[in-house]
Amino acid sequence: MTLEIKRLHLASLEASDGSRWPVHGFVVTHPGGAVLVDTGVGGPQDVLDDWRVVNRSVADALAELDMSPADIGLVINTHLHFDHCGQNAVFKHAPFYVQRAELSRMRRESSELYEWFGFMNARFELLDGDAEVLPGLEVIATPGHTEGHQCVVVRGDGAFDLLIGDAAYTPRQYAEPGRDNLPPGQASDVEAWRESVRKIRSLRPEHVHFCHHTDILHS
Ligand SMILES: [Zn+2]
Repeated sequence: MTLEIKRLHLASLEASDGSRWPVHGFVVTHPGGAVLVDTGVGGPQDVLDDWRVVNRSVADALAELDMSPADIGLVINTHLHFDHCGQNAVFKHAPFYVQRAELSRMRRESSELYEWFGFMNARFELLDGDAEVLPGLEVIATPGHTEGHQCVVVRGDGAFDLLIGDAAYTPRQYAEPGRDNLPPGQASDVEAWRESVRKIRSLRPEHVHFCHHTDILHS
C-alpha cells in the first residue's frame, strides 16, 4: 500500500450518559505528502464546557508522528461538527475538502460555530457527492449523521480501508443500522443514515476506523 493510515488521539468528550468518548483524526501519508482527515475539537468555550472536553492541540498530536501542521498539504473534513473541524484554522495553508451540502448546513444550522471558525477565509474545495481526492484516496457521500457527511476510502491492493467519520459512532451502529435506540446525535435523518450505513457495508471495507471508538473492525 502506498497510502498509509496513522491515527491521532485528539480529545475526549463526555456524552450525555456520562461515558467518555475519544476523538480521533487520521493522517494519510502518500508518496507526495500527507492528508489530514478531521482536525479535532475547537469552538466557543460554552460548547467545550458542555461536552467536558479534554482537548489536545492537533500540532501536539502530529508531533508524536514527527510531523508538524506544515506537513499537511490537504485536509478532508468528514463533516463540520465542532469535534471534526475545530482546529481547521491551524491549516490555513491547506485546502479543505468538504461536501457543498455540509457547508450550507453548517451555515444554516450553526451560524455561531460558522463565525467562530472564521470560515470566510478558508479555502474550500466543495464536493458534490462521491469524488477522488488523490489517486487511491476517495470520499463517499454518506448523508444522515449530517446532511453533507462523507466517509473516506483509502485504497490498497484490491482492498480498501474506510475512515468512517461519524457515519457510525461505534462498531455496534455499523453492524446493526436497523436497531432502534440510536445514541443521541447519531442520525439527524434516520432513514438517510440507515441507507448510508447499508451502502458502505455493501462495499465491504477491509478495515473500518472510527472517530469515536478505538476498535478497528477487520472484515
Ligand atoms: Zn458529528
